[in-house]
Parts: sequence; structure tokens; C-alpha cells
Amino acid sequence: MKAIVLTKRGADGVACLDMPAPDCPPGWARVRMRTASVNRVDLYMRDNGAGITHDLPLIMGVDGAGEVIEAPEESGLHPGDPVVLYPYEFCGHCRACLAGDQPLCRQARILGEHRHGTFAEEVVIPAPSLVRLPKNADLRQAGVLGVAYLTAWRMVFGKAAAGPGQTVLVQGAGGGVACAAVQLARMAGARVLVTTSGAEKLAHFRGLGVETIDHRSEDVVRAVLDMTAGDGADLVIDNVGEKTWGVSLRSLARGGHLVTCGATTGAHPSAEIQRLFVRQISVHGSTMGSMEEFRRLIRAWQSGAFTPVIDSAFPLPEVPAAFARLDHPARLGKILIQIP
Ligand SMILES: [Zn+2]
Repeated sequence: MKAIVLTKRGADGVACLDMPAPDCPPGWARVRMRTASVNRVDLYMRDNGAGITHDLPLIMGVDGAGEVIEAPEESGLHPGDPVVLYPYEFCGHCRACLAGDQPLCRQARILGEHRHGTFAEEVVIPAPSLVRLPKNADLRQAGVLGVAYLTAWRMVFGKAAAGPGQTVLVQGAGGGVACAAVQLARMAGARVLVTTSGAEKLAHFRGLGVETIDHRSEDVVRAVLDMTAGDGADLVIDNVGEKTWGVSLRSLARGGHLVTCGATTGAHPSAEIQRLFVRQISVHGSTMGSMEEFRRLIRAWQSGAFTPVIDSAFPLPEVPAAFARLDHPARLGKILIQIP
């Protein structure tokens, strides 16, 4: 089968190769992949991978959707069923799994990080990690939900839930998680402010009824305080990291919540401990979401509550070009991989 394989670190270690189809152990399912999406963590795996137990060569890709080829009878899945993949394998019987928080399972293995991923014609995975979709489901949209939208779901609802009457600030809106967070916070009825740049992205967000701050030309903290009559935002969603951390803290209302899921621009900003305790600010780390959060996300999508934003689509062999698109300044939303 064709797959995008990381053979060694660096951009020239990514190759489209013929790989043997994987074995499907008892209790697992085999999926014919149709779509996947590019995530920032793919670049981390390509260029570094430190702290993530894995071996090379590794098939890349963390999320995606496809059709069941084979599945255990007890799973209720049948050949041809459209499915979306939860990005984790999990044990199902540890404390975390029994509490319904699969990302905290110590045996959890993430596709494309700890084990082979989704940039392949076929994937095998324990059947409990598959969610069945209706026969007419749009697998292009389904293929981008697994990482960015699930991560955004937990950031918007899982820590200090956003809702009507609250103000949510989303930093660096343009990336997959940030775009998703804007949509989900709007869906929840919150007032949403975004920092972004570029005429097209500013216009896109204004069209969604979102208030925009151009971080290239405006003082973000001043703008947020002006827009909120001096209060600041109740919830700040930040996956930019060191570059925006201080601005995020200073844009928060007293008693507000900062949720972080990424450190693209660096991992060691000043903690500003005095600001944290004097203003009673909470900082939450967040990554992906539970199986139940994934199911709720999928139900919300199927009910039409939001439509995933897809920036562009690339065929499987062109994953390296899709990676390059991640850092394009005009990029808005998810980058889809189509697997013919
Ligand atoms: Zn577990």
C-alpha cells in the first residue's frame, strides 16, 4: 500500500513509499483511508520527535476518515461503513480510561506519533477507536475533525466552558485549532475576539460575526480592554506559545482562564506569577479530547452546528507540499489529504 513514511529526521526524510499492508490482530479493525489532515505535530515528528516513544520508519498522519474493510463482530461495524478515527489507541481499563479521559491513559498511543498513522491506504486500529458515520457522510469534512477540532472542543468546553455572555479571545486565528475554536465558541453563543493578520483572514472572521484585532498593527491588550469596557476576556485560547503568552495573560479578565495546547513559538515565557495570583487567573493545559468529547463533536458537526474550514487539499503523495502550506501566511483552516 502507498503511505507517507518518515524514514529519518528532516524534510528529506519524508517519502511516499510502498509499505506492506498491516496485520489486523483480534479485536482490531482495518480501515481503507479516504482522507486525513496535516497537523502541526507532523512537523514536530518530522524535525524532532523528542519525548515521543517511536521507531523509524514511521507512517505519518494523526487523524482521518475512511471505510471499514474488516472489523470484529462485537464492534457492530461492517465492511463499507464510513468511519472517523479517534487519534488514540487506549487500554480501556486503567483509571483514566474508566474515568472516560482516554488522553490521560498511560498506555495511550497516538497515530502517527507512537505508532503508524493515517497517511496510508490502510490503517489497523482497535475497534473502540472508530466512530461510525452515516452512509452519506462527507469524509472530506470528517477527515479534519480528529485533531484540530477535538483539541478545540476541549479547550472551549472542557476546562472553563464558554457560553453566552462570555468573551473568548482566540490568538493567531488562521491555524486549524484556532479556526476551530472560533467556530465552536461562536456555536456556544460566546462573544469571540480574534487576533490575526492579512486582509483575507480579517474579512473571513468579520464575516462570521467575529471581532478582529490585527496583531501586526494594533496593541492587542489595549484593543481587548477597549472592546470589553476594561474587563478583558473570560477565556483566552492560545496555541501560539511564548510569543503571545504575555499578551494572553494581560488580555484576561480577573478570574479568567487561559487554555494552551501548543508552543509553536517557544515553550518558556515568563510565568508572571504575581499576575496569576493577584488576578486569580487559571492556566489550563489541554491536548485533544476524550472519546465522549469526540462523539459530541461529531454529533454537533452532523447536526450542522458548524462546518469545518478547509483551506486546501492535496493528494497523498503531495504531503510534503501540504506541510509547506502549514506556514503560508494566507493559510486559513485545515489542510486536507485525499487518499484515492
Ligand atoms: Zn487506559
